[in-house]
Amino acid sequence: MNTSTIAALATPPGKGGLAVIRISGPQAVHILSKLFVPAGKKTAFADRSMMYGHIVINGQPVDECMTVVMRAPSSYTREDVVEIQVHGGEQVVTSILHAVFNCGAEAAKPGEFTRRAFENGRIDLSQAEAVMQLISATGQQAADAALRQLQGGTLRFVKDAQKQLISLMAGVTAAIDYPEEIEEDEAVGVIAPDLLKLSDKLLAACDERGAAVLEEGLRVVICGKPNAGKSSLLNALLMEERAIVTDIPGTTRDTVEGSIQMDGIRIHLKDTAGIRDSKETVEQIGVGRAREAIKSADLRLMVLDIGQEPDLEDEAILQLIAGMDNLYIFNKSDLPEHPGFANWLLKQQLPEHVTMTLSAQSGIGLDALRARLRAAAGNPGQNTLTLVRHMKLARKAAEALRRAAQAMQNSLPLDLCAVDLNEALALLGEITGDNFSEALLDEVFATFCVGK
Ligand code: GDP
Repeated sequence: MNTSTIAALATPPGKGGLAVIRISGPQAVHILSKLFVPAGKKTAFADRSMMYGHIVINGQPVDECMTVVMRAPSSYTREDVVEIQVHGGEQVVTSILHAVFNCGAEAAKPGEFTRRAFENGRIDLSQAEAVMQLISATGQQAADAALRQLQGGTLRFVKDAQKQLISLMAGVTAAIDYPEEIEEDEAVGVIAPDLLKLSDKLLAACDERGAAVLEEGLRVVICGKPNAGKSSLLNALLMEERAIVTDIPGTTRDTVEGSIQMDGIRIHLKDTAGIRDSKETVEQIGVGRAREAIKSADLRLMVLDIGQEPDLEDEAILQLIAGMDNLYIFNKSDLPEHPGFANWLLKQQLPEHVTMTLSAQSGIGLDALRARLRAAAGNPGQNTLTLVRHMKLARKAAEALRRAAQAMQNSLPLDLCAVDLNEALALLGEITGDNFSEALLDEVFATFCVGK
């Protein structure tokens, strides 16, 4: 248990209807009693009951408030926790926080409340991380996945794998300790395939792309020559006038973006400036950004105008995105197709499943495009593991298991395999925090916000 008492604003700073100040630690209730004057006759704080009154500092009422005391161990941190609800004004919050610090509390570091919940054994590390995931969720799938993890989904998966591993390790230890009774070959014949199975199970839970889509959404970039219809397509997908649509080539000078949600997954759409060698500085800056965005996106929609014969400019873009995940959009299907377009297309040999013909203006074919975007995002919210940190560890553990199995199959000494198996067990423990170092906790909680 920590001996210090920490405090912080738990709501976002700035003006708001309410602000919540949270205090946790052995001095929490004492600090509240120094600053809070109840409005009614009751002066004792009943556990987990709201109480109305005023915060009074040096004899001066600062604000009216509602406050609640949650006594250890039935609280977020398992310590005594106090929450004070006041009006969400900067001055009010600053005065109260200062007074709380003057009464002996320390300013909480980012994620320190949740870190205490972990250190006091209320939640494991994967659950602590789920709190942050839930707060930052930008889509329903991400929020659902975070909640599942918070309720112990990842913990159960890892505990299960650890249990299987421990039982396999017991078999290895028995073969090492009782060589007269247990034939090594026999033990290896049974244990090595199970180790490989467990290794595969861990690898199957690792979908880093899915984790990124869940965390940040699917990043889609619309590229193509000026006037191909990129802004029109973005607008049509966003169903609002975000980008400026004009018929003067090169008018979308900067990236314009927006996002939509499909089945609980966020899809970010970015319209880029036309990639062209421009002499104009503003447009050049736009072109530089467009190239950046094109490279880093998960999916590129290259828009081509079927009413025109593609030229070197189109081909330069085609080359720029070659080898990446692309969808080629043949736009302006409401207009007659230029004969040169069909000829050009024949030469390109683009696989049919990456091409779509539509009209951004009339909307024909847009639903099919939406369905493609939805399919490209997948269903990462249903994955067993959802955080890249967990996947890195699970992959390393899977490698260690495979090494051990291979060493067994190559008749290397069992002691050697045991080293790899111990390593795998420890790596899995880093996911749940069974096995943790201060450095690991610092790394995990550094991503949290203050007050959480
Ligand atoms: P961008 O430079 O690639 O962003 O192109 P815009 O979206 O600004 O469109 C250029 C011109 O093509 C505008 O006049 C649009 O109205 C027109 N346009 C875009 N999509 C279509 C389409 O599907 N059909 C027709 N007929 N015109 C379109």
